[in-house]
Amino acid sequence: MPEVSVRDQIKRLVELQKIDEEIYEHKKNLKEKPEEIALVKVEFERRKSGLQVLEDQLKTKQVERKGKEVDLQAKEEDILKHNGQLSQLKTNKEYKAKLTEIESLKADKSIIEEKILILFDEIDNADTSIQKEKENLVEEEKKYLAQKKEVEDMVKDLEEKVKVLDNKRKQMVGDISSESLARYERILVGKEGLAMVPVANGSCSGCYMNVPAQKVNEIQKHDQLIYCESCARILYIEEEL
Ligand SMILES: [Zn+2]
Repeated sequence: MPEVSVRDQIKRLVELQKIDEEIYEHKKNLKEKPEEIALVKVEFERRKSGLQVLEDQLKTKQVERKGKEVDLQAKEEDILKHNGQLSQLKTNKEYKAKLTEIESLKADKSIIEEKILILFDEIDNADTSIQKEKENLVEEEKKYLAQKKEVEDMVKDLEEKVKVLDNKRKQMVGDISSESLARYERILVGKEGLAMVPVANGSCSGCYMNVPAQKVNEIQKHDQLIYCESCARILYIEEEL
């Protein structure tokens, strides 16, 4: 391999950086978008379990209502039975006692009837809430599936883009010494996809710290890679390439 000057290597690295920046952005989206959609799914599942809770509560109330209706019927039969016994009673005292007993049964009966009415209301309300929530969930599911499809399409598209960029990248790295490339790539991973930074107005454009004049001189010599003292990225001067 012919010797490539440091200046030319930096030039290549700057070009490579443009591609790597894109790859970095794409990969970030490839990681984050599916995570976002997973969160939407969790929220959707949470609402579905919420609906299940409502349905279970409704069932409990329906069972309770049926029980109360059985109680009511028993109470009615009891009242009929006691009414039937009235005519067989001999004394006034017995008769009065029976009437009191019947009154007490009737009072019990009306308590049960009231409870049944309340349960009917509660069951109606629960039914309405469940219907509404079901409709909401149908809409939510549609939205979720649309978002999911969007993300899946995006992922496919991004993977394709990364593949193309990776190929482009492979053709570019040939001119860069393996040592410089290794350093560059190490910084790339550690510094969120940005390893090559120009000095602008005397500052590193990666971390915005001042670059001393001495360092600027070293960069201008182009005999080795020069790093920012503060963020450790590779510095270059745009006009000098
Ligand atoms: Zn810096």
